[in-house]
Amino acid sequence: MITDNDGAYVNRPLFALPVPHTWRYSPSATLLGDAAHLMPPLGADVNLAMLDASELALAIVGHATTGEAVRSYEATMLPRANAIAARLKHGLDHMLAVPDRPVRQPS
Ligand SMILES: Cc1cc2nc3c(=O)[nH]c(=O)nc-3n(C[C@H](O)[C@H](O)[C@H](O)COP(=O)(O)OP(=O)(O)OC[C@H]3O[C@@H](n4cnc5c(N)ncnc54)[C@H](O)[C@@H]3O)c2cc1C
Repeated sequence: MITDNDGAYVNRPLFALPVPHTWRYSPSATLLGDAAHLMPPLGADVNLAMLDASELALAIVGHATTGEAVRSYEATMLPRANAIAARLKHGLDHMLAVPDRPVRQPS
């Protein structure tokens, strides 16, 4: 695939936030989606972003102040995101690992 493609090899690195990741609570600001938990692209990404948005919206309408809403939202979102990010980091490490023994060739 690399030698037969249409042009030169282009390095497109993957970025992810550290695991676990958090920030100091602020009653007037929070993060969601990739800004809150950019993680290896193994299928959770946009689903989590939409879930965050939905839960933050529900928290805002369900609490008297934005500070309470942010605290409630982050209490659910941060542990969930960190748990999933840890699993995906492990998955990415496994996918990109150099085998520690020779790969068997098909006979
Ligand atoms: C190539 C690629 C393939 C992907 N494939 C998949 C997939 O198959 N399945 C999956 O689940 N996820 C996939 N993802 C990940 C998914 O796209 C993201 O997880 C998701 O879009 C995150 O949504 P978000 O709203 O948090 O951020 P984004 O979609 O990045 O939205 C952030 C928005 O903020 C805007 N913005 C940034 N800075 C400012 C500023 N200062 N002022 C105003 N606006 C600003 C940006 O222009 C952007 O529109 C893929 C991502 C990439 C790059």
